[in-house]
Amino acid sequence: MPDPVTHFIGGVPVALGPTFAACDPVTGREVRRVHEADRSVVDRAVAAARAALPGWAALPVAERAAWTRRLGDAIEERFEDLVAAEIADTGKSITQTRTLDIPRGAANFRAFAEIAAQRPESAFHLKDALSYTVRRPLGVVAVIVPWNLPFLLATWKLGPCLVAGNTVVAKPSEHTPGSLAVLAEIAASIGLPPGVLNVVNGFGTGSTGQFLVEHPGVDAVTFTGESRTGSAIMKAVADRVKPVSFELGGKNAGLVFADADLEAAVEGSVRSVFTNGGQVCLCTERLYVERPVFGEFVERLAEGARGLAFGRPQDESTVMMPMISAEHRDKVLSYYALAKDEGATIHAGGGTPRFGDERDGGYYVEPTVLTGLPNGSRVNREEIFGPVCHVAPFDSEAEAVGLANDSEYGLAATVWTSSLNRAHRVARSLEAGLVWVNTWYLRDLRTPFGGVRLSGIGREGGTHSLDFYSEPTTITIKLEAGHG
Ligand code: NAD
Repeated sequence: MPDPVTHFIGGVPVALGPTFAACDPVTGREVRRVHEADRSVVDRAVAAARAALPGWAALPVAERAAWTRRLGDAIEERFEDLVAAEIADTGKSITQTRTLDIPRGAANFRAFAEIAAQRPESAFHLKDALSYTVRRPLGVVAVIVPWNLPFLLATWKLGPCLVAGNTVVAKPSEHTPGSLAVLAEIAASIGLPPGVLNVVNGFGTGSTGQFLVEHPGVDAVTFTGESRTGSAIMKAVADRVKPVSFELGGKNAGLVFADADLEAAVEGSVRSVFTNGGQVCLCTERLYVERPVFGEFVERLAEGARGLAFGRPQDESTVMMPMISAEHRDKVLSYYALAKDEGATIHAGGGTPRFGDERDGGYYVEPTVLTGLPNGSRVNREEIFGPVCHVAPFDSEAEAVGLANDSEYGLAATVWTSSLNRAHRVARSLEAGLVWVNTWYLRDLRTPFGGVRLSGIGREGGTHSLDFYSEPTTITIKLEAGHG
C-alpha cells in the first residue's frame, strides 16, 4: 500500500489533495498519511464512473459475475496483505481478521455473482399480451462505509452493486482506507475495466463524503454508518430524490429466559457484547434477564468480560481490540462516566486498561458490565458502540418484549430460551430487522439484512441487495391473434 494512501480513479492511483494522518489505534501513533479528495477529485472519480457505465452495464450479467468472482479469487491471493492492512487501520485481532473480515470480502463477491447469475426474471402471459420485466442498473452509485468492519461492509455493497451493472465511487472511513486501497490494486491487477470501481479518500461532512453524495453525477447512495449521518445524507439527496439504502445504528437487546441453557447464553452474550470491541452494529448493548437467573447471569457475564484477552493484534489468542480513535474512546468512556453518575453498579471494567508499554498510548477501554439503570437512562437509549452492556431483570415474557422494543432503534435482537413455543412467540414480537434465537451473528448472505426505525431503510442480502441496485422496467407487448 502506498504512503500516502492515494485515490483510485479510472483504473489508476491518483495522488491528489492534501494529506491527513492515519493512526494506529494500538499505539495512537501516526503510521501513514492519506490523500483527501476535494470537490475536483470527486468530480474526476464520478466522471470516470460515468464514462465506464455504458460498457459495464451492457455486459451480460454472466460476464459481470465472472468479474466479481475473479475479484473474490484475487482477494484470496492477496489475503495476507488485506489482513495486514485491516489490522494496521483498526487494531483488530489477527484471528478475527483472518476468519471473519477478509474471508467475508471474498465470499461477498462470490455469493452475489451466483445470486445474480441465477436470478429468474418474471413474465406474465395475459390474454392477448406478454408482460415481463427487465432490470437496469441505477447508474453511478456512491458507496460510503464506516470503520468498524471496513472490508466486510464495503464488499457487502460492492459485490451486488457491481454485478447489477452499476459503476461505483466508494469512500471508506477516514480511519480505515487501507483494505480498499489494496482492493483497488487488486482491481487493477485483474484488469477490471477502468472506471468501474473508483475509490476516494477523505472525511464526511464538509469533505469527500458530502461532496460525493451531493454530486449531480451520482445516481444513488448506499451508506452504512451512524443514524444521524444517514439523516444528513437523506437531506443532502432530497432535492434530487436519489434512492438511498441505509444500514444505520443499533441499540440491540438480548433476552435471557430462566429456561435457557445458561452456559450458552453467557458465552453467546460475551460474544454478542464484546466482539470487535463492541464495535459491530449487531452487538448487544441491553440485556434483559429473567429474575431467577439474573444474579448468576450477571456474575458469569462479568467474569467472561474480565477474562477477555488484551494481547497484541498479531497474537492469535488476542480477543479485545482498541476503539478506532481517541475521539471514539473518549465517547465510550464518557458513557462509562455517565453510567456512574446515573447510579449504575459496575460489575466489570468501567475504565481503561494499563499495559506498561506503547499500548498505553492506544485507544483501549475495558469491557464493561453495568446494572441498576432504568430503561429510560441515556446509557440504555443511546448507541455507545463500545464493549459495554447494561443488564436488567424482568419478571414476565410480556415485560421482556416491552423493554426490548422500547427503543428508537431496531436492528437486531437475541433470545435465549429452551422453549420452542416461546422462541417463536417472542421472536415475532420483537421490532427488529434480525432476531437470533440461541445464537448470534449466524448469517446466510441470501437472507434480508437491515433494521427498522433509526436503524435503517431497506434491506441488503441476496436478491434484496440486487433489488436496490437495479430498477425494473415493465415491458408489455400486445400479441395479435394468429392467422391461419
Ligand atoms: P459515520 O456515520 O460517522 O461514518 C460512516 C461513513 O460516512 C464514513 O465514511 C464517513 O466519512 C462518512 N460520512 C460522515 N458524514 C458524512 C456526510 N455528511 N456525508 C457523506 N458521508 C459522510 O459512522 P462510523 O462512526 O464510521 O461507524 C459507526 C456507525 O456505523 C455506528 O452507528 C454503527 O451502528 C453503524 N453501523 C451500522 C451497520 C449496519 O449494518 N446497520 C454496520 C456497521 C456499522
